[in-house]
Amino acid sequence: MSDTPADLPTPRSNVLAIPAYVPGKPPTARPGLTSYKLSSNENPFPPLPGVLEAATAAVAHLNRYPDMGSTDLYAALGAHLDVPTDHLAVATGSVGLLYQLVGAYCDPGDEVVHAWRSFEAYPIALATSGAVGRAVPLLADGRHDLGAMADAIGERTRVVVVCTPNNPTGPAVTQAELDAFLARVPTRVLVVVDEAYVEFVRSDDPIDGVATMRAHANVVLTRTFSKAYGLAGLRVGYAVAHPEVAATLRVVSLPFGVSAVAQAAAIASLAEQEAMVARVDELVARRGHLLAGLRAQGWPVPDAQGNFVWLPFPGEPAATLAFAAAADEAGIVVRPFPGDGVRISVGEAEACERVLAVAAAFRG
Ligand SMILES: *Cc1c(COP(=O)(O)O)cnc(C)c1O
Repeated sequence: MSDTPADLPTPRSNVLAIPAYVPGKPPTARPGLTSYKLSSNENPFPPLPGVLEAATAAVAHLNRYPDMGSTDLYAALGAHLDVPTDHLAVATGSVGLLYQLVGAYCDPGDEVVHAWRSFEAYPIALATSGAVGRAVPLLADGRHDLGAMADAIGERTRVVVVCTPNNPTGPAVTQAELDAFLARVPTRVLVVVDEAYVEFVRSDDPIDGVATMRAHANVVLTRTFSKAYGLAGLRVGYAVAHPEVAATLRVVSLPFGVSAVAQAAAIASLAEQEAMVARVDELVARRGHLLAGLRAQGWPVPDAQGNFVWLPFPGEPAATLAFAAAADEAGIVVRPFPGDGVRISVGEAEACERVLAVAAAFRG
């Protein structure tokens, strides 16, 4: 055994400050009770028709590197969105895109404005690049405070993230709200519209992301195959942006990051729009059922536009954890954010009924 040298390599100081990502827990096994994982906003449906076959065919060529240019996936996405392929950048999930965006546009000490509470990956991605987060509190009803976010933009702000629908609280930004916000953001600031749940939005004034991107050279949309398309395990997402931004994202991407299996599965999934929409409609119906049931029990649940609902527990960390423990006893795993609330994914029909039963018992 060698002695430990006195001087070890040390990572950059910002790396030591990266907050830990808390993944959704697997359910505790309960004999005689089917368990449900409602802690990671996963799609309860299996991959869409034809996807397993396409993925399996790609598996036969695992001795080869994937198409580094993801040529066929770019073509399929371009056709689906009606944008030229130079407006696209695919990546290892939309979380991968976030890292690329912050890394490409922020020097250490530059600022990223985002709402809070919002997606847990934001503070981690920022810290990884040495950027500084300017977290702007949500409004009491779980919506972004876009006025305060515009006010928070300063000399050093390079990126603003708008998470719509907001994970974990649920409300979506409207087109009118986004337009008013963009009118206040300097064009030198990149506005990332995180549309991970765009397929689930059923609001009166939904955002037309592609049209918004076309109208604003500083807007980039991030989307994913992880949620509506049910491919969370394969890690594939994409950005839609002006060619300069899309090219920047491709330059800083991990070479061969999106596997051939992921590319094949994403292409096959895009071809199944009708089946995808039917499943999302079913989940939206379950979401409405959950929302109505929880509100009838007296829970102040905010508008839910993603594939999850939010039970607020502001300033009550013990109650947050008590709810999660009660759910676990009933065989469902939810995501507690102590002192803020509990996020519950819209999963299997039976799982939704169990959520309602647990929530009723908790209030009673
Ligand atoms: C789930 C989620 C993503 C998607 O992440 P992937 O890396 O594509 O799996 C992105 N943004 C938000 C807000 C999410 O909740």
